Amino acid sequence: MPDQLPLTLFNSLTRRLETFAPVHAGEARVYTCGPTVYNYPHIGNMRAYVFADVLGRTLAWKGYALRHVINITDVGHLTDDADAGEDKLEKAAAKSDRSIWDIARHYTEAFKADVKALNIREPAEWSVATDYIEPMIAFARSIADEHCYELDSGLYFDVSTVADYGRLARAITEDGEGRIDTVEGKRNPQDFAIWRRTPAGETRQMEWDSPWGRGAPGWHLECSVMGEKLLGFPFDIHTGGIDHREIHHPNEIAQNQAFCGCGSLDDASHSGAKLWMHNNFLVERSGKMSKSSGEFLRLQLLVDRGYHPLAYRMMCLQAHYRSELEFSWEGLGAALTRLKRIVMMVAKLRDPPTGAAPEAKLADIVSRFDAAMSDDLNTPQALVALEDALSAKKVEDGAKRAVIEDMDRVLGLDLFALERSDLRIRPRDTQIAEEEIEAELLRRKEARLAKDFATSDAIRASLAARGVEVMDGDPLGWEWTLQ
Ligand code: AMP
Ligand code: ZN
Repeated sequence: MPDQLPLTLFNSLTRRLETFAPVHAGEARVYTCGPTVYNYPHIGNMRAYVFADVLGRTLAWKGYALRHVINITDVGHLTDDADAGEDKLEKAAAKSDRSIWDIARHYTEAFKADVKALNIREPAEWSVATDYIEPMIAFARSIADEHCYELDSGLYFDVSTVADYGRLARAITEDGEGRIDTVEGKRNPQDFAIWRRTPAGETRQMEWDSPWGRGAPGWHLECSVMGEKLLGFPFDIHTGGIDHREIHHPNEIAQNQAFCGCGSLDDASHSGAKLWMHNNFLVERSGKMSKSSGEFLRLQLLVDRGYHPLAYRMMCLQAHYRSELEFSWEGLGAALTRLKRIVMMVAKLRDPPTGAAPEAKLADIVSRFDAAMSDDLNTPQALVALEDALSAKKVEDGAKRAVIEDMDRVLGLDLFALERSDLRIRPRDTQIAEEEIEAELLRRKEARLAKDFATSDAIRASLAARGVEVMDGDPLGWEWTLQ
């Protein structure tokens, strides 16, 4: 690659675009808040991991040795992000005849399947919260005297003991701290449990002994501990969805400040990470997406309706990660069509002639791509650069291929492995086999050649009755599609 531009990223904590400068020379250490595995992830959740993946790929592309951690929350996340309600996993287990461990395992596997389908790179480490109970207790013990107090229900963090509590939330909305919950005896409304004691007479499926009684860790504690253990404070970048700016991340930050004995957040690295990045939401026309409500949009639903999962990745890349993205089936269809066009152009580059590949004609486009990605991961513009490179005239195929491969290393659309036919819309309940369609179309072609239009029309009508639309003269060259 020619010399690349410095990478600028938006830091939610300072509300500024900042030039990425690694804590450890040549390395990038990134922590991404992972899923709570009490249910399937919805496609909104997956937007958060597509974003983190693009960030990781960009850092790697810029030459940093990436160390990426994504955690799996299998304990501690309550039905309310503040301290109200039940543990989401305990609640799911109570409604089912499976153990909480089975539930966590099942949904972790489902999440990882979506990660794979979306061509999200596996992180260096999947850290599972329940593997870190001992370090969590040690972390809590080290801050307990100075920053915590006990109530009947557990050990609480006193947010008035650290500087600038809630700056991350306040930077976003004036009422960022407005969520007050009802635990009696709290010193400040925003104080939060870092250890929840199991109420007398009850048992939980997941509970451990601690200096504060038998119980379970708070959700915020796990991320602080896994971040510190696996990446060290301060690490480079912490990511999550924008909902985490309100409670989860301010609380993680407060714990981190307590742990490292750090002061004001005017120095962002006192928060445990130098940069805090947040993806905006995927929304449905009807409002926010939720996986606790009965029916919700899972990646599998998109696949069942016949869409290739990478069409959804394309849909995510078409929006900037800090913009809200509205999901619609038409939007998904448009993303699929765009991906199809790209794949068809890439197919022409599959076996390029070998030999030196002068890039001069593409240099301008390559710099535009770099400028887009370096400008806070502007994937919509990067996609335009990729398409411009594909349609550039009088460029040797080998040179083009090298450039497209390089761009796809960042965007992760798997362009050289995808086949045009992979992208055909194929609803799961389709009754007709593709070989049968192809055979009928061959028969129709022969009829048309023989000017037997009655037969040709009859074949078309019979295919239509079985959900196959024949597409004569389609600009993408599709001869048929399934309805
Ligand atoms: P959870 O499993 O609920 O902890 O969420 C996993 C990730 O998805 C977190 O980073 C959330 O902030 C993020 N998230 C939740 N809902 C959405 C949404 N509708 N769009 C984008 N990201 C979301
Ligand atoms: Zn987290």
